[in-house]
Amino acid sequence: MTGLGDGIRLAGDLLRRSRWTAVLTGAGVSTESGLPDFRSTAAEGRLAGLWTGLDPTRVASVSAFARDPDAFYRFYRQRLSHLADAKPNAAHRAIAELEVLGFVQLVITQNVDRLHQEAGSRDVVEIHGNLREARCQSCGSIMPIGVMVRQLDAGTHPQCAGCGGMLRPNIVLFEEVLPVEAYRRAADACLRCEVLLVVGSSLEVYPAAGLPRLAKERRAKIVIVNREPTACDPLADLLLRGQAGEILPAIVEAARRAATPPRPDCAPSV
Ligand code: NAD
Repeated sequence: MTGLGDGIRLAGDLLRRSRWTAVLTGAGVSTESGLPDFRSTAAEGRLAGLWTGLDPTRVASVSAFARDPDAFYRFYRQRLSHLADAKPNAAHRAIAELEVLGFVQLVITQNVDRLHQEAGSRDVVEIHGNLREARCQSCGSIMPIGVMVRQLDAGTHPQCAGCGGMLRPNIVLFEEVLPVEAYRRAADACLRCEVLLVVGSSLEVYPAAGLPRLAKERRAKIVIVNREPTACDPLADLLLRGQAGEILPAIVEAARRAATPPRPDCAPSV
């Protein structure tokens, strides 16, 4: 059995050898920024996941938006309040640094918080959209989320100034398909990567949970950093169990120091 220290050294070595590495992140990469994930139970000072005692299909689905917009908007207004004060943590910063150092080529995230971009990651694919923008349900116009929030805080259902349609966050709701172009880039990255580093995801929700399988079928090495077991642990070449904000900075240091020389021939971004 590999200890955490040895595992971190191995991860650093894998990243240094790899010619093309993708990172796939989930809600767990942002819990150390004070944002709850979806499925964790409250324990030892941890935040309870958003779906604790709440049925996501009643507040975060297309049918919920149509059936009970008040409950839908209440849920997202609360999430936006959490987001207002959230700052990138050590894990986001480490992932951005791996990109600057040439050890990571693309970040695929299920998160809608934009913290990877705030931390400095440049190439980020958001497969579940983002909560910093609102979208008109009728004409598809995109605008800053503040437009939606101001109307909500004034006590009205937010409407599009152009067509009068209802505004909603520009994210993927339950019962919706993933944005085609974002998913294509994510899948292409998994088909070409030599290492897929997965951070802070239970890997229970498809199609995102299918990405590590895709990468594994093409013989990529799968490294999973998570504080609990995930649905894809049997696929992993390396499992690093613990806090992302501690493990990721240690991986950066290990990659810098690894004995293997870096590959000079990093392929261009997909
Ligand atoms: P998740 O809550 O299912 O899993 C998070 C994982 O991160 C857990 O296994 C947890 O143990 C781990 N973790 C938590 N903090 C950590 C830390 N500091 N360090 C290391 N690991 C940590 O979240 P997910 O995997 O991102 O799941 C994808 C989610 O996307 C689904 O749960 C789905 O509900 C959600 N989703 C939401 C919307 C929406 O809000 N409308 C839309 C689409 C998908």
